[in-house]
Amino acid sequence: MLEVRGVHTYYGQSHVLHGVSLDVERGEIVALLGRNGAGKTTTLRSVIGLTPPRDGTIRFEGERIDGLEPYRIARRGIGYVPEDRRVFPELSVEDNLNVVLDRDSDWSVERAFELFPALEEHAHRLGGQLSGGQQQMLTIARALVTDPDLLLLDEPSEGLAPTIVEDLETLLENVIETGITVLLAEQNTNFAFSLADRAFLLSRGRVEWDGTIEELQSRDDLIGRYLSVA
Ligand code: ATP
Repeated sequence: MLEVRGVHTYYGQSHVLHGVSLDVERGEIVALLGRNGAGKTTTLRSVIGLTPPRDGTIRFEGERIDGLEPYRIARRGIGYVPEDRRVFPELSVEDNLNVVLDRDSDWSVERAFELFPALEEHAHRLGGQLSGGQQQMLTIARALVTDPDLLLLDEPSEGLAPTIVEDLETLLENVIETGITVLLAEQNTNFAFSLADRAFLLSRGRVEWDGTIEELQSRDDLIGRYLSVA
């Protein structure tokens, strides 16, 4: 579904991704793991076109998307939940969903609330009044109601208390059951281990290893070298 090949991405003169290649098949949950600064965010930003690669190719459903404007890439069916969980602070929870909802899809605010009951309780509160965990749920729900085929999630567990991370995990399990494909960037190894099927390990802008989560869990050498266990 997604094929990233030899991607080099820069911020100005700073060369951050050094030939990243990865694949995500339809229906899979793939984790992009690595320490702070490894290049996880930059990889997701390269896919969605916010920092377009200077070299390499990115294909989605067989078609080149590198070089397209981010909104065009999103329209092809890629949803993106950035790290900074920017909800519309002055809109109610319900309206945060209403403004982006794809009305030609199976999604509705009601269906989103079925999946995220905690949001329904706060349907009329303003986005800006929600807790960090609730804002994270709202940004994920907001990406879902645009009806993407592939969801890019950037460190959804970051900055959340452990009990909230557990809630988020349960909620994402329900999201995954809808059949969506996910590329999940995470520093919280255990969180990623419980959700993903496969992983790519990034270090200094390079993919150092890829394989199944099952295999990775038995590789203490890789975990010690490339990951921090939360
Ligand atoms: P994090 O957990 O911090 O998000 P990450 O694995 O997602 O880590 P990136 O954010 O992709 O890593 O950062 C990769 C490298 O790019 C880091 O060395 C970082 O300092 C650098 N970098 C990120 N954003 C910029 C920017 N806007 N300008 C210059 N360098 C940047």
